[in-house]
Amino acid sequence: MRKKVTILGSGAAGLTAAIYAGRANLDPLVIQGLQAGGQLTITTDVENYPGFPEGIQGPDLMEAMHKQAERFGAQFIYDNAVSVDLKKRPILVNTSSEEIHTDTLLICTGASAKLLGLESENKLMGHGVSACATCDGFFFKDLKVFVVGGGDTALEEAVFLTRFAKSVTLIHRREAFRASAIMVERAKSNPKIDFILNSVVEEILDVDQGSVTGIKVKNIKTNEVKVLDADGVFIAIGHHPNTDLFKGQLELDESGYIITKGVKTNIPGVFAAGDVMDTVYKQAITAAGTGCRAALEAQWYLENMETSADSGAVQGEKILMDKV
Ligand SMILES: Cc1cc2nc3c(=O)[nH]c(=O)nc-3n(C[C@H](O)[C@H](O)[C@H](O)COP(=O)(O)OP(=O)(O)OC[C@H]3O[C@@H](n4cnc5c(N)ncnc54)[C@H](O)[C@@H]3O)c2cc1C
Repeated sequence: MRKKVTILGSGAAGLTAAIYAGRANLDPLVIQGLQAGGQLTITTDVENYPGFPEGIQGPDLMEAMHKQAERFGAQFIYDNAVSVDLKKRPILVNTSSEEIHTDTLLICTGASAKLLGLESENKLMGHGVSACATCDGFFFKDLKVFVVGGGDTALEEAVFLTRFAKSVTLIHRREAFRASAIMVERAKSNPKIDFILNSVVEEILDVDQGSVTGIKVKNIKTNEVKVLDADGVFIAIGHHPNTDLFKGQLELDESGYIITKGVKTNIPGVFAAGDVMDTVYKQAITAAGTGCRAALEAQWYLENMETSADSGAVQGEKILMDKV
């Protein structure tokens, strides 16, 4: 298959890029990945995406974005990209059944929140279990919440959650924190935060009830197991950017996030948007914003390629640089 624009991923970044590229008549192809709709499909209420004063369910928001992209001619493949060759021109992308040759590639493969791997955690995600305090903290006003993790993110989330929750208990598997001393100090001096150290979450209750009512915590030094009342559990043990496919081909940071200048990667014609290149904000609206930018950059890149071809120039990148 020959395309001008191929988008990897169908979360907020990928679908926004598809809407813009579709409206620019670029006939984009979206390789959706196996989590069509991205991370928001595993949550319930989204109350901070502009335009929905009453909030919207995550899956409904993503379905609406998908339909909007389809309306402007985006074509969808439900599969993962399994290999890419970013040096080839056109760029080569393989799924399990298709070979795609594309002038531009927009990487919007997201970053998955690392989870504990408990079945109960999976079943209660969006029903009291969350992987994002910024997104869901508001739902826990005057409630009792737990945060799992020991890095900066966990401590930041714990402090943030004290704005809403009645109490916040941080559970960490070790005695010492990986977090910076200043974050540890900030959390320790907050009267609403308690700590349970050397402990792991064994189970989140209550799947039968369909909402969080408690957690089973095991002290790994004494093997003592306790069941504690809980209204919410925030998993804050980090994210894994979905960039394995690009290792050795693209500049990645030490955690595997794509390094960009704006949304440009170090390879001309390859752009990245959303959580896959965002180590800070990780919100649907910021993913959509960079998705828009990536589509516009791809459009300008293609215009520049055409101009260069018309004028016989070999390198089109410079004219493009002048534009941004
Ligand atoms: C539980 C939860 C609740 C959240 N709540 C909110 C909220 O209320 N408000 C908010 O603003 N944000 C929220 N977020 C954060 C928000 O979901 C993310 O910031 C946003 O989804 C990022 O969009 P994205 O397009 O960059 O990536 P993602 O949504 O992660 O999408 C990545 C896409 O890439 C695809 N993919 C991965 N690998 C490949 C591959 N090899 N080939 C092709 N495709 C691939 C996946 O299938 C997926 O479609 C929440 C996140 C979680 C986990």
